[in-house]
Amino acid sequence: MRFDVISLFPEMFAGFSQLGIVGRAVTASKLRLVFHQLRDQGAGKHRQVDDTPYGGGAGMVMRVDVLVAALEACEAQASPEPQAGQQRAKRILLSPQGRLFDQATAYQLAKQEAVTLICGRYEGVDERLRSYVDDELSMGDYVLSGGEVAAMAVIDACARLLPGVLGNPASLAEESHSPTGVGLLEYPHYTRPATFRGQLVPEVLQGGNHQAIASWRREQAKRRTIDRRPDLLAPADRQQHRQDEEP
Ligand code: SAM
Repeated sequence: MRFDVISLFPEMFAGFSQLGIVGRAVTASKLRLVFHQLRDQGAGKHRQVDDTPYGGGAGMVMRVDVLVAALEACEAQASPEPQAGQQRAKRILLSPQGRLFDQATAYQLAKQEAVTLICGRYEGVDERLRSYVDDELSMGDYVLSGGEVAAMAVIDACARLLPGVLGNPASLAEESHSPTGVGLLEYPHYTRPATFRGQLVPEVLQGGNHQAIASWRREQAKRRTIDRRPDLLAPADRQQHRQDEEP
C-alpha cells in the first residue's frame, strides 16, 4: 500500500516512518510512504501557499490552486504513464469537519492500493478544495494545529492491518473496535510481576486452564464494554448484558 502525504512539514514524519510497526512495514516493503512539500507548488517567487480570507477575519487560508497543483504533481509522480482506466489514489483531506475516523474506516482504507492525505494548516483550506477530494476524515471533536498528526494516526492504523505486518494477525480479531471481531472492547492484560504494590494478577490467568481463561476474558470484555462504552453494543445486546449482570 502507498500513502502520499501533502504537508508543509514533511520533516515531522521522519521518526514516525522509521520506528515501530510503521517502520517495520516500510522496511518490509508492505508500505510505501512518500512525502510532498506543499511549498514546492507554492505561487510566485515566494512560493506562497496561503492568503487572507475573502470577507476578512482572522488567520490565513490555504490556496486551492496550490493544493490542487500539489495533488496533481503527486499523482503524476506516482503514475508517470497512467494506463487507461487506471484508478487514481483515494484523496483524503484531514479536517476537524470530516466524518470521524474509526477502525472500520481503517480496514476499508487498508484495502486501497494508494491513498493521498492532505494536511491542512492555519485556518484550513479554501472551500473549493472539497470538490477535489473523495473523503474528509476527522480524528475527533477537537482542533489540531495541522493535519500531520491526524495523517500519522491514519497511516499507523492502516499499516498494522496490512497482511504480514503484525507478528500475530489473530490478535486483530480480538482487539477493541475490530469490525471482524465480537464488537467488544478487549479484555484486560497482565504481565509479570504477579503482585505489584498489593495488586494481584487474577488467579485464573496464572493457571493453565485455557478454557477457563477464554471464558474469563469473554466475560471481562463484555463487562468493560458495558461499563465504558455501552454505545458500542446493539440495544438488544445491551439489554441482554444488563440482565446477565443483575443479581
Ligand atoms: N479553522 C478550522 C475549523 O475551525 O474547522 C480548523 C483549522 S486547523 C487549525 C488546521 C488544520 O489542522 C486543518 O485544516 C486540518 O487539516 C487539521 N486538523 C485540525 N483538527 C483536526 C482534526 N480533529 N482531525 C483531522 N484534522 C484536523
